[in-house]
Amino acid sequence: MRVSRLFLPTQREVPAEAEIPSHQLMLRAGLMRKIASGIYSFLPMGYRTFRRIEQIVREEMDRAGAQELIMPALLPAETYMESGRWQVFGPEMFRLRDRGGREFCLGPTHEEPFTETVRNEVRTYRALPMTLYQIQHKYRDEKRPRFGVMRCREFVMKDAYSFDRDAAGLDVSYRAMEKAYRRIFDRCGLDYIVVDADSGAMGGSGSQEFMVKSDVGEAVIAYCDACGYAANDEKAEAVPAPKPGTAGQPVGKVHTPSVRTIEELMAFFGSSPARFAKTLLYLADGVPVAAMVRGDRELNETKLANLLRCSELEMAGPDEVLRVTGAPVGFAGPIRLAVPVRLVADREVAASVDLVVGANEADFHLEHVDPRRDFPPFEEADLRTVADGDACPSCGGPLSLCRGIEVGHIFKLGTKYSDALSCVFLDEEGKENPMVMGCYGIGINRTMAAVIEQHHDDHGIRWPAAVAPYAALVVPVMVTDPVQRQVAEALYERLRDAGLDVLLDDRDERPGVKFKDADLVGIPLRLTVGRKAADGLVEYKERTWDKPVEMSVDEAAAKTLERMGPYR
Ligand code: ATP
Ligand code: MG
Repeated sequence: MRVSRLFLPTQREVPAEAEIPSHQLMLRAGLMRKIASGIYSFLPMGYRTFRRIEQIVREEMDRAGAQELIMPALLPAETYMESGRWQVFGPEMFRLRDRGGREFCLGPTHEEPFTETVRNEVRTYRALPMTLYQIQHKYRDEKRPRFGVMRCREFVMKDAYSFDRDAAGLDVSYRAMEKAYRRIFDRCGLDYIVVDADSGAMGGSGSQEFMVKSDVGEAVIAYCDACGYAANDEKAEAVPAPKPGTAGQPVGKVHTPSVRTIEELMAFFGSSPARFAKTLLYLADGVPVAAMVRGDRELNETKLANLLRCSELEMAGPDEVLRVTGAPVGFAGPIRLAVPVRLVADREVAASVDLVVGANEADFHLEHVDPRRDFPPFEEADLRTVADGDACPSCGGPLSLCRGIEVGHIFKLGTKYSDALSCVFLDEEGKENPMVMGCYGIGINRTMAAVIEQHHDDHGIRWPAAVAPYAALVVPVMVTDPVQRQVAEALYERLRDAGLDVLLDDRDERPGVKFKDADLVGIPLRLTVGRKAADGLVEYKERTWDKPVEMSVDEAAAKTLERMGPYR
């Protein structure tokens, strides 16, 4: 393709609305444009990479034995009502009516139509196991669409669904998907970790997320270099690290006027935050609950919600705090609450002694509190978020924290949807059983953005070869020079004839402009044809290199083909 003919609207300026590198670069490099909040079109250069990622996903799904089909995006409400998710999705689901008043949605994820199709067509164990997939648009009216296609409202997902006769079968199907996912993200050039994820809300029995390490990721991952343990921080088990203190001292009431926060307590008592225990009041589906973690810890709301098995968890407001504790915010504690409520304490709090807690009275705290001696009856559980340097729950080594972008998710669903939608099969004895299901998703757009997050520099994108929109770019420095022009054209044709996707920057522009565009767009190889073309010499430069290397046209062509061989 000739750059002079290419629909490639690049921008020099960093767009004001884009906060993270991938979003900025996707706009600046002319890969995509915004149509509405969280809704983007891909322009030719962007769509080429998009299709390359899709193709990698497709090849690996097929290799794993999954079968591709395509479902509609416009789906009738009925099966989502049968599964209960018509309600569960709430405002995130795009809903509409046809002219007859019948309700529809734009599919946010397709468990229901896949389960329904298999229920209607599959009768016996002979058809199982079976994994089906599609690569198709999804619609979610996200509360906060942001970071370009990282979190958008229309996106393309590869979603796969496995159907097995039993849990052992599901294990095999699940492992096959896990392996395929590793191959996919390896081929995309991503540095990622596979983490144990929380499966609480969806009620499944196992779930892993594929996280691309990146500072702009929304998820926090705890991992152990020593043993390979890795988990989402919503799930990572926190091992109690008790702090020394002297047990058995009598509880004392301390006047602490206007001392409410942990910082204020530290200053007042002149001691470390580990000596304090915070009592946080929550409303779990409207019912007040008191939850405790140490002063230097963070309460993990996902762990708390899973423990309480509630669907809505929110912090209680000041009126509720006053009603339950009898004191204004800042003085809540476990002992002598005005209204007795369910009390849950983090394992670390339970194992501590000599703590300072709120006294449920304005301007007072209690000290020398030993939970097992002084608290009213309470439950203990893992409630805190893991911290950097915590002991690994699997080997005891130190945990590290990093941020990650969730690009893929694999999930053991069990019989949740097959029970709800009566998706059953007959076994050898003619007995009916529910199929055991798994579901597996990869966001194509988000994966593309994640690749850019890990592969860029100050000048632009540095596409890994496997997903690059074009393999190489031939740049004649002066297109008006007949020799340069002729050598560049010949090299371009030669590489094209060898089957590579090649660009020829035939624009009559200053070399600086062409090189800037080349760096921005991030084609892996650049072949510059300049003054030495008359001597048969050109410059070969990989996008990740600082400087070009001079070589003969033949050498440059050979090196390009060697380097980009697997590209096709
Ligand atoms: P998140 O927690 O980021 O909202 P999710 O748990 O809702 O993700 P899944 O329902 O598991 O995501 O979807 C599977 C994959 O689809 C995700 O791993 C991600 O790659 C992609 N995805 C989900 N929501 C979006 C979105 N709003 N924009 C782009 N990609 C998305
Ligand atoms: Mg989501």
